Amino acid sequence: MKYVWVTLSAIVFSVTLLHAQKPDKPTSAETYHELQKLNFLGTALYVAAHPDDENTSLISYMSNHEKARTVYLSMTRGDGGQNLIGSELRELLGVLRTEELLAARHMDGGEQRFTRANDFGFSKHPNETLKIWDKEKVLADVVWTIRKIKPDVIVNRFDHRTPGSTHGHHTSSAVLSVEAFDIANNPEVYAEQLEYTTPWQPKRIFYNTSWWQYGSQEAFEKVDKSGMVSLDVGTYYPELGLSNNEIAAMARSQHLCQGFGRLTDRGSSMEYIELLKGDMPKNNDVFDGINTTWSRVKGGAAVGEILYAVEKNFNFRNPEKHLTELVKAYQLLQKVEDEHWRTLKSEELQTLILNCAGLYLEASSAEASATPGSMAKVNFEAINRSANAITLKSISLSGISENSTPDQVLADNIKSNFDISFTVPATTNYTSPYWLNDPGTLGTYTVNDQMLIGKPETPSAFTAIFALEINGVAINIEKPVIYRYSKPDKGEVYEPFAILPEATSKIDEKVLIFASADTKDVQVKIRAGKNDVSGNVVLNHPEGWMVTPSSIPFSIAQKGEEISVSFKVSPPQSGSEGKISPVITIGNKTYDKELVEINYDHIPKQSILLPSEAKVVRMNIQKSGEHIAYIMGAGDNVPESLEQIGYQVHLIDPNDIQIGSLDKYDAVVVGIRAYNVVDALKFKQPILFDYVEKGGTMIVQYNTAGRWARQFENIAPYDLTLSNDRVTDENAKVNILAKNNSLVNFPNAITEKDFDGWVQERGLYFPSEWSADFTPVLEMGDEGESQTQGSLLVAPYGEGHYIYTGLSFFRELPVGVSGAYKLFANMLSVGKDEVKKESNVKG
Ligand SMILES: [Zn+2]
Repeated sequence: MKYVWVTLSAIVFSVTLLHAQKPDKPTSAETYHELQKLNFLGTALYVAAHPDDENTSLISYMSNHEKARTVYLSMTRGDGGQNLIGSELRELLGVLRTEELLAARHMDGGEQRFTRANDFGFSKHPNETLKIWDKEKVLADVVWTIRKIKPDVIVNRFDHRTPGSTHGHHTSSAVLSVEAFDIANNPEVYAEQLEYTTPWQPKRIFYNTSWWQYGSQEAFEKVDKSGMVSLDVGTYYPELGLSNNEIAAMARSQHLCQGFGRLTDRGSSMEYIELLKGDMPKNNDVFDGINTTWSRVKGGAAVGEILYAVEKNFNFRNPEKHLTELVKAYQLLQKVEDEHWRTLKSEELQTLILNCAGLYLEASSAEASATPGSMAKVNFEAINRSANAITLKSISLSGISENSTPDQVLADNIKSNFDISFTVPATTNYTSPYWLNDPGTLGTYTVNDQMLIGKPETPSAFTAIFALEINGVAINIEKPVIYRYSKPDKGEVYEPFAILPEATSKIDEKVLIFASADTKDVQVKIRAGKNDVSGNVVLNHPEGWMVTPSSIPFSIAQKGEEISVSFKVSPPQSGSEGKISPVITIGNKTYDKELVEINYDHIPKQSILLPSEAKVVRMNIQKSGEHIAYIMGAGDNVPESLEQIGYQVHLIDPNDIQIGSLDKYDAVVVGIRAYNVVDALKFKQPILFDYVEKGGTMIVQYNTAGRWARQFENIAPYDLTLSNDRVTDENAKVNILAKNNSLVNFPNAITEKDFDGWVQERGLYFPSEWSADFTPVLEMGDEGESQTQGSLLVAPYGEGHYIYTGLSFFRELPVGVSGAYKLFANMLSVGKDEVKKESNVKG
């Protein structure tokens, strides 16, 4: 049991290094900054709901000014957000945003933790959030984090007393934090956790308030602040050459997929934290009354005596002069009984020893990935850039029997390299985010291993152990095995060393719509995880569907190479939906995963294994018209979806729109938030309305209300006021108001059943007021709220039709929701039935 504990704590340490992408190479001033942090024994926990909620100014202040261990607990990984830099959405976006948080913490000096809660989308009220999240589970994780981290102070980003005033996830994060503050020290609560940790009572809990809570800066100035601690977070750190707010902006700018790139800022700036529970600290010192010196720990005073003296007399020119004292302190620290502080401070002290000695240790794999059962080779590099007596006694890898015992003195500035070749054990876990390994619910991930809960990443598969003797004292240093290579246009690149399956498969199109009974060719891509892979692949399919051939043999010579095979898929005659999933057989093993890689400059490359599958939908859908012009806004996949049901979609550059240029199209569709992001559109509205007047159909999807109001007044040819009205419950009941309207009759009859199976939400930013020219077609509302009629509005204009809809077609079409397709086909066909009627009359 003891051995297991040592290994796990070492993994925490290596994970910190893993996301750093490139290894840190601190200057002696930065090393001094780390020494100051080593000599502060206090902990702060910051709590909010999403990646990017966190106040990086305060986290950086706690970490770099107070010198406290500072942890940000984000309830979720932000799966429900938008992505401004790539196509990752849902769980893949959660992986990207996790890495962005780690990159932010690497900047501001904090650490990162999570609960199992999933960011399932916008929620209006914490009651709804806590029901969907499974409050007991998420509260357990907050308690677990408090017991593991043992914070002295907790700071909530959001106010637990104002439900309904912000995202339900936000308020819930504060509600859970306050509840956990009261129960984390009670051994009867979540007693099962105490097999791995101990109860803990934080001393204080605060709410990180701000002027916007009070409406204006002026109003906030008048507020009685006797219950608040005020902190100047604009402080300057000469040893880092940076102001706290500069660091905060750099950290915040890591949230690139959310568009948080920021200018850096300097100068005095105040933050206020309001005391919720615990005693009011004096002198605006959040750690007032808490012993944050080495004497806090039994046996720590002797360690402190050495380390405070090193801090006082720090030799910036030759930090290696302190090695003897640091190693002596390390030896004393190992005798400290308090496991929490011993583990934590040993890791910090190890790093300090390496940095003071200019001791560089690295373990890099010869290849980017390996498969279980295959051979791998790891190179160990060790270099001592000091005059201290350092011996590399042995090197090894966690869980691997092969090792090497060089027992070599590391002479000043002479590099040593050693290799270990080994067979990757057949039982080695694949490299993939642990929280995605098992299917979760709408509200939470499934994580069965208690020790993984809270961790930002999956621990690296292999840890290298450098057994050193420094000035006669044995110190084992652990490093994750990495892969590094050079790219001509990028320089040196570091990646995690990945363990991957022998073969993975992929169907590019995640949803295949069969609008007729015609057979479709479906390409399955197969990627080899090692050299010389051969086997066969079958395509599992739902009942009533047909797939030929039943099996396809394949062989791939090169690791990493991808080939493509083709199956013919035939749908049944009537409506049906299900999944097709490729299964590869190699020898007596089967493989059913897709490998997704996420690769951006600001985060380390991520390998994610997901079930390999695609949704197939046979829908009986009628349509009218052929050619659609699409004006892209903030980005959506609606054009691809419309092509799946047989439309020809032409993407139009708004700058190219001229009088008459749209006449050849059956309809013009404007993508989501186009009026918010495409400036040119405001000049093109008269041309678009002219197109409608002459008989065209114009469909505008949702735009956000705030920015629109400032920039445009002519979103529609008639009065139309956008609002913040939204219906977030995807199952909210829908009433058809305009039962005779063409939009619910032609060419597809729409019934309430067509609103079954929608995902995430009904829609957002519905208009709240509109001219009498519009007909509201539908009515819906969230539980406990009034019904809104603005989700789908249609108005005749001249010879044509204008439609405004806040319904979330951009979410429903890409996942193959039949009813949403039928309704969209009807919008595109509006007016075409009148033409038919007329011609019937004439005929
Ligand atoms: Zn948020």
